[in-house]
Amino acid sequence: MLRNGLLYRTLVLATALSLFACAGKPVDRTAGERAAARERMVELLASRRIRDGALLEAMRTVPRHLFIPEGYRDTYDPYGDHPGPIGYGQTISQPYIVAYMTERMGVKPGEKILEIGTGSGYQAAILAALGAEVYSIEIIPELAEHARQVLKDQGFDNVRVLAGDGYRGWPDDIVFDAVIVTAAPAEIPRRLIEQLRDGGRMILPLGTWSQRLVICRKRGGEIEIEEDLPVRFVPMVRGEE
Ligand code: SAH
Repeated sequence: MLRNGLLYRTLVLATALSLFACAGKPVDRTAGERAAARERMVELLASRRIRDGALLEAMRTVPRHLFIPEGYRDTYDPYGDHPGPIGYGQTISQPYIVAYMTERMGVKPGEKILEIGTGSGYQAAILAALGAEVYSIEIIPELAEHARQVLKDQGFDNVRVLAGDGYRGWPDDIVFDAVIVTAAPAEIPRRLIEQLRDGGRMILPLGTWSQRLVICRKRGGEIEIEEDLPVRFVPMVRGEE
């Protein structure tokens, strides 16, 4: 009994210590450690069948941690296999989801891409690193400003960030090659389909409680819809009328 009690206490202590060690474990901090963390992230993506070499290279190069606002950067692993908080109740998407959506959409250098839900700016940076001309809309002005600043500091001058409501699309009459939506609407936003060129494609998480990635292709005025993975995104909220 006594021995068991001791064993129990030792186990509780050991568990508590290991939890403490995890919580207090410093996340990778030096440039070399960040690069090594990115390399591990890319290996994981490749093991999950992300095949596009240019995309893997972009994810190996873009410093994901810098897109996470400073107050959140060291409270979780920026290169971990999960989404993470960026403030205002919003998240930066899991690296695999960024890679998967980008690969499914297919990006060619010089293409005009509209992103809805700039958030941290990381997805926009990946598209820009692939040579796209990126237009990104974020409804929370502080996040739009944060993303604009990091993208500028990182030299991504092929990204424009607008603080506004994505349901309204890009204000100028631009026709996009592709649209990527990174917040979930309940229905496909009509204005975004209108801003797609003929032959263009859009990828978005669709639904409220249960969501799926959906890929829409616009062909001769018709929309082809392909359903894909189940996902979980923050809702695409409506702006003020
Ligand atoms: N692409 C982001 C992750 C997006 S999280 C990244 O790489 O970090 C989803 C974002 O969509 C949030 O920042 C949220 O504020 C924004 N959002 C929600 N509804 C929106 C709307 N109607 N228009 C534009 N942005 C919206």
